[in-house]
Amino acid sequence: REEMNIIQGALELRTKTVEDVMTKVEDCYMLPFDAVLDFNTMSSIMESGYTRIPVYETERSNIVDILYVKDLAFVDPDDCTPLSTITRFYSHPLHFVFSDTKLDAVLEEFKKGKSHLAIVQKVNSEGEGDPFYEVLGLVTLEDVIEEIIKSE
Ligand code: ATP
Ligand code: ATP
Repeated sequence: REEMNIIQGALELRTKTVEDVMTKVEDCYMLPFDAVLDFNTMSSIMESGYTRIPVYETERSNIVDILYVKDLAFVDPDDCTPLSTITRFYSHPLHFVFSDTKLDAVLEEFKKGKSHLAIVQKVNSEGEGDPFYEVLGLVTLEDVIEEIIKSE
């Protein structure tokens, strides 16, 4: 029954983690920090269909900004505006969560804050060097809700 599925999904928010439901970093549509907002880039953004686009510097695991598609309202592709000009102007806050955060906790964060997207990271302490933050993907409110209402 539908209601049972929803209750089941809601109960599972306490045990499932953001890593279970996130979109993996290799599947994320992102832009490099030094991108130029020319016709090709703006077409690609529109075609992606995403509303929020993480911006990375040098490596895809190094996310430094986020672009909202609505920030492009006054951008003329003929001006070839650097992406960084726009992200610096709007400078939306970036939200990070650890990969082992439970879904009920991240849902509370989403309800509190204005942003419904968080970058998922973990501390990587494998290997020789110092531990470092590693980006695993992104999670949105939609991913959490999906988990509640999914029917199987
Ligand atoms: P909205 O629905 O607010 O317009 P959206 O469609 O861009 O936003 P969501 O509805 O929040 O995104 O999420 C839908 C799915 O897309 C989720 O699984 C989420 O993880 C994924 N997603 C969101 N942004 C990106 C992105 N930039 N690259 C890849 N996947 C994304
Ligand atoms: P997004 O969060 O994807 O950027 P949004 O902020 O425009 O989209 P929602 O987050 O879907 O809109 O909705 C937030 C609240 O604003 C809801 O209560 C919704 O009913 C209301 N809302 C959305 N669009 C309009 C509109 N054009 N006029 C008045 N209220 C709206």
